[in-house]
Amino acid sequence: MAAEAERAARPQALCLVLLGPPGSGKGTQAQILSRRWGIPAISTGDMLRSAVTSGSELGRKVGSIMADGGLVDDHTMAEVVRRRLEHDDAAHGFLLDGYPRTLAQADTLEEMLQRQDRSLDGVVLIRVPEAELIRRTLSRRRLDDSEEVVRRRLRLYEEKTEPLVGYYQQRDLLRVVDGDRAIEAVTDGIEEAVGESA
Ligand code: AMP
Repeated sequence: MAAEAERAARPQALCLVLLGPPGSGKGTQAQILSRRWGIPAISTGDMLRSAVTSGSELGRKVGSIMADGGLVDDHTMAEVVRRRLEHDDAAHGFLLDGYPRTLAQADTLEEMLQRQDRSLDGVVLIRVPEAELIRRTLSRRRLDDSEEVVRRRLRLYEEKTEPLVGYYQQRDLLRVVDGDRAIEAVTDGIEEAVGESA
């Protein structure tokens, strides 16, 4: 079914967060599911990278933080995401890839959605064994990323983002999917986990 028809056939909007460490494949899955479900994949990493490329004020602010593998501050991220969620195309749902990344961001997202009279339908954690993550991230790393930067990203994920697993578990939103499989098998696993399989 074409994405538009599929969206029309689905009675409700679907607001999802994809959670997982760098190298878990969440960006790839967000793209595939976005086409399949007709809802936008919102990648904060992609948004920030285009801001850097365009040389905007935001780009100048975040460029060196990203190059070092650090996290952009919560306030800046809240502005970026709030504006994006107000776009018309996100009215029928969205797949968030790369946000939230801290507990404060998760609280902010909840508030933002509440103000729009909606809430998350689910959070999918794509789980991949650490050795495989390191193999994947080192082999696909961008030319200017040193091994040190890659390891810093993984460490920050463990410190700042992993606590979101418990946060969403408590809210009964968390679904865990095995990401250590072929791309198509992971996609099927996500569809099954959120009850969207055809
Ligand atoms: P990603 O493509 O999701 O790995 O994001 C690339 C980089 O953008 C990250 O390493 C961070 O520097 C920055 N970034 C993206 N999303 C966020 C976020 N939610 N909070 C803080 N920094 C972020």
